[in-house]
Amino acid sequence: MDEPRLKLAIQKSGRLTDPSLDLLTRCGLKISRGKDQLMAFGENMPLDVLFVRDDDIPDLVQEDVCDLGLVGLNVLEEKRHELAARGHPVRFEALRTLDFGRCRLSLAVPEGQPFDGRRSLEGKRIATTYPYLLEHYLRERSIAADIVTLSGAVEIAPRLGRADLICDLVSTGSTLQANHLREVETVLESHAVLIRTPVTLPPLKNEWVERLLMRIEGVQQVRESKYIMLHAPRSALEEIRRLLPGSESPTIIPLEGFPDRVAVHAVCRENVFWETLERLKQAGASALLVLPVEKMLS
Ligand code: ATP
Ligand code: ZN
Repeated sequence: MDEPRLKLAIQKSGRLTDPSLDLLTRCGLKISRGKDQLMAFGENMPLDVLFVRDDDIPDLVQEDVCDLGLVGLNVLEEKRHELAARGHPVRFEALRTLDFGRCRLSLAVPEGQPFDGRRSLEGKRIATTYPYLLEHYLRERSIAADIVTLSGAVEIAPRLGRADLICDLVSTGSTLQANHLREVETVLESHAVLIRTPVTLPPLKNEWVERLLMRIEGVQQVRESKYIMLHAPRSALEEIRRLLPGSESPTIIPLEGFPDRVAVHAVCRENVFWETLERLKQAGASALLVLPVEKMLS
C-alpha cells in the first residue's frame, strides 16, 4: 500500500512564497516544481506542496482539501471573524507561530490630520481589505464607523475621497509615506502561521506532522543561535557565564598542562555581537571562536 501523503498549501506568488519554501527546504524537504505548476511533489518526504492564493489557504485547510497551510495571521484572523459573523464554525487549528511574514494591520490618517483615538474614528469612513477584522476591532471599542470594503489599492482611497482614513498592512511604512498617510494605531500584529486541518489524521500522516513541527522548531531556534568556544581562567568562569547571551549550562573542559585555565563551549540562543566578545576578552577569555549552528534537536 502507498504511504499516505500530506498536502501543504503555501502562497503561489507573493511575500510569503520564498520564506515558506526556504523553511521547507531547511526542514529537509526536496521538491520538484515546474514553473507555474499548482503542485510540487516531495521527493524525500510523503509531503506535497500546493501553490495557491494566500486568501484561499484557510478554506482549503478548513475544508480538509489540504492537511496543512502556511498563511499570515492577518488572513487567518480575517477568515475567523468572517466565519463567526456568518455563524459558521471555525475549524482550522493554528499549530505554530513562524518567524517570517511580520507586518501589522494599522489605521492610518492623511498627513496633517490630527488623530485623537476613538473620537477621530467615530462616524468616519475607513477603507480596508479586512472588513471583518476591522468590524471586530471597532465593535470591541463600541465605535460606530463606516467600513468601506475594497479589494486593493486601499492607500489611495482617502485621496480619491472614498474614505477618511484607512486600515491596511504595514511593514516599513514606506507605502504609507509615499501616499502621505500617517500610521496612528495597530489593529493586529501579524506573522506567518502553520495551520492544520481539524480532521483526525491517520497515524502515519500525524507522525509526519509531528516531525515537521519538530524540525520547524529546530530551524527557528538555529536561525539566531551560535556556538561559542573560548579559553578562560577558572577564576573568571562565573563572570564569563554571565556574559554569554542566552546560553544554558556550558561545557567546561580542562586544558592539558594549564591547571588554572579551561575551555568553555556553549550554545548561545541569541546572536553574539562584537561587544560581547570584547567584554569576554576583558573578563580574561582568549582564543574566542563563534560558529554558526547548522541543525538543532532538543
Ligand atoms: P495573493 O495573490 O496570494 O492573494 P496578496 O497580494 O494577498 O497575494 P502579498 O502582498 O504577497 O499577498 O502578502 C502576503 C502576506 O504577506 C500578507 O497577507 C501578510 O501576511 C504578509 N506581509 C508581510 N509584510 C507585508 C507587507 N509589508 N505588506 C503586505 N503584506 C505583508
Ligand atoms: Zn491575498
